[in-house]
Amino acid sequence: MERTFLAIKPDGVQRGLVGEIIRRLEAKGFTLVGLKLVRVSKELAEKHYDVHRERPFFPSLVAFITSGPVVAMVWEGDGVVAAARKLIGATNPLTAEPGTIRGDFGISIGRNLIHGSDAIETAQREIALWFAPEELVAWQPAATAWLVES
Ligand code: UDP
Ligand code: MG
Repeated sequence: MERTFLAIKPDGVQRGLVGEIIRRLEAKGFTLVGLKLVRVSKELAEKHYDVHRERPFFPSLVAFITSGPVVAMVWEGDGVVAAARKLIGATNPLTAEPGTIRGDFGISIGRNLIHGSDAIETAQREIALWFAPEELVAWQPAATAWLVES
């Protein structure tokens, strides 16, 4: 089953949007299989954002992501990687569509509330980076029969 890595960034936690963000993913029908509150180390932040290492915003991005608690999550479901990116919205909250998390709750690219893996392979790398295998719980929600045609 397809899985993605999502992380509510320090701005989302500080602004009290943890419940609202999780609510949207639950309401959509995806399954939560991993969840923890993390004080992110510089080492983890730099590994997570390694593809952006040479970008001018890299130092401020690492400083931001390590500035307060982050809610790290793994969500499961067919097509969850791309669908979660749609629920999250465009990188810049000012241009993200209303109805998306970033479009509804943000105004600045450096404070865009949530991270979501951009591809299945990226998700696998990020899940392995943030979670130990035993921290992930495979389970079958009772509502599955009402969400997915068998
Ligand atoms: N970011 C930034 N300034 C920029 C571009 C990106 O601060 O000009 C930050 C922003 O928090 C973004 C993260 O770097 O979410 C990773 O950038 P990416 O292009 O991967 O965006 P995402 O995949 O998060 O939409
Ligand atoms: Mg990205």
